[in-house]
This record gives sequence, C-alpha cells and structure tokens, in this order.
Amino acid sequence: MAADGSVLFSDEELSEISGLKKGSNFVEVMCGCTSRRYGDAVGRLRVFASGDLEINCECTPGCDEAKLTPAAFEKHSERETARKWKSNVWVIVKGEKVPLSKTALLKYYNKASKTANGSHQRCEWASMSPR
Ligand SMILES: [Zn+2]
Repeated sequence: MAADGSVLFSDEELSEISGLKKGSNFVEVMCGCTSRRYGDAVGRLRVFASGDLEINCECTPGCDEAKLTPAAFEKHSERETARKWKSNVWVIVKGEKVPLSKTALLKYYNKASKTANGSHQRCEWASMSPR
C-alpha cells in the first residue's frame, strides 16, 4: 500500500496545526516566515513521506512562487540569506507561531538526511581504513 497522507503523522502530531490538509501522499499546513523589514510572508507547506518539503508561497495575491524549498522560501520572504529556515519558518499551532524545528513535521526530512549522512560517513570511513 502506498504511503497515505493520513498515516504520515499521528493525529496527535498534527493536532491544532493551522490549515491542515491531508493529500494522497503528503500533508499540507499553513506556514510562514517573518521578515524584520517586510513582515510575515505566508505559504502552504507540503510534507511528503520521502522527506521532501515544498512550499507554495502566498505572500502576496500576485506571487506565483511555487515548489520552493524552505530555504528558498526563507530567502524569498526575507530577501536576505539567513539560512536558518528550521527556526525561521513557522507553522501555527494553537494560534501561536512555532518554528518547524519544534514540530513533528520534520521527522521524515530528518530521517532522509540522516540516511544520506550515514552512507556518506560509511564511504569516508571505508576510504580511510588501512587495506
Ligand atoms: Zn512570495
């Protein structure tokens, strides 16, 4: 059975996150990024089972930025490179802005990047070991 958006996260992990929608293989929530100069930019964040994160920007009615990575969204909304999207991009939980790093939404992303690091480390270790 293919991964279903409704089983990616438990109800508890997603409870009270604003704008929650469950797709066939992703969940979608409202997200945003606050710029000191430009104020809040909002968008729709999709979290896929593969760990991919995708943001469709809605900062202005005319904005057609879609399929942004969180880092690109942060750059787009801040117009500067802060590169701390995990703490700068937020979702709304119980009416409060909560950084992505403090939600369960990154668990697939973290898992995917951990796997990538793991194999990289194994390669390095193998090349460094005596023959
Ligand atoms: Zn935008």
